[in-house]
Amino acid sequence: MFDYKPMEFPEILRLELTNTCNMQCPHCRHHAPEKKKPENYPEYYKVTSHMTEEQVALILDEAKKYKPSVTLNVANEPTVAPTFKFACTKVKENGMSGTFNTNGLLLNDDLCNFLVDIEFDSVNISIDATTPETLKMARGITAINRLINNVERLLKIRGEKLYPRVGVTFVVMPYNEKEIDDFLSFWKERVDVIRFTGYITDGKPDSTVLPGVEPYKIPPRIPCKQIFKDIVIRANGDVTPCVITSEAPDYTSMGNIFKDGGVKAVWDGSIFKQWRDYHNEGCWNGISYCKGCDYWLDSFEIKEKEEDGFVIRSPSPYTVFFNVKEKMNNWDKTKLIERQGFGSKDKNSYIGSMSSYDLEKSDSPSN
Ligand code: SF4
Repeated sequence: MFDYKPMEFPEILRLELTNTCNMQCPHCRHHAPEKKKPENYPEYYKVTSHMTEEQVALILDEAKKYKPSVTLNVANEPTVAPTFKFACTKVKENGMSGTFNTNGLLLNDDLCNFLVDIEFDSVNISIDATTPETLKMARGITAINRLINNVERLLKIRGEKLYPRVGVTFVVMPYNEKEIDDFLSFWKERVDVIRFTGYITDGKPDSTVLPGVEPYKIPPRIPCKQIFKDIVIRANGDVTPCVITSEAPDYTSMGNIFKDGGVKAVWDGSIFKQWRDYHNEGCWNGISYCKGCDYWLDSFEIKEKEEDGFVIRSPSPYTVFFNVKEKMNNWDKTKLIERQGFGSKDKNSYIGSMSSYDLEKSDSPSN
């Protein structure tokens, strides 16, 4: 049915340096107070797990030859990891591009100077609000000014230098969607990129709950690019099939980096092959995680338009990046892929251009 092949080595390498966080955001699927109750807390989080420097080096030294784009967080706060600075430095020493998402609480002078000095590529700070009241609902704290000051500290220390590229993110929820315009105009004057993303619930990502997405506009399903180009490595070395399954409390493992021969050995292993075969055969419903998961929509061509001084890029109905047009000279689209980059477009394996669609332009059934 399909014949998509995996990248020789994952194009995006996601490393969970620690499985902990220094906040308890109410909407967090892992560290919210409700999730931390003994009856709800997954076994994985009950024991603190940090990668060691040797383990981080093992992974990044193997990756060096392939130059993936490295993301230093999964479902955690990377800046609390004991190996955080080591990992950032190693990414740069090995000639790779790096990024991470942070809650921004620990962006002090020392950390900001470090990131600017090593020319780390990209930092994204999750804020989700414009007022203390909304921040309390989103992240359980009211210190909006502290977060703003921390982002401005990083920008001030960066000064006229290019790196890191600085972004803020906003997870759209019913209680904060009225603040979207204010968030955009406030941060447009300050940062390089602003990302809005839908909330993915405990169940599977479901496009039918997204505002503005009507089921008849969803194109026919295709294999999910996650398992062809993206690897997620948890703090204990377990590899999950994709970012969505990594967030499931009862995650499944495709193998363990530290026990099963390294990144490429797991990437080329039998369990990944089985998942990819299912997808190429159109049998995604044979995988319990994929059945009902709409994140495969992320596999289509990224849509882009220019408006109001932004280059607006959307990889899926879930996410929109507002890149400030005059501040795009610190972004290498082929090296720093994140979710809005182009990647290498390797003809044998790239699946981003399998098809194109535009939810806004799709005809309605009555047309
Ligand atoms: S369809 Fe969903 S669960 Fe399946 S591989 Fe893609 S993101 Fe993961």
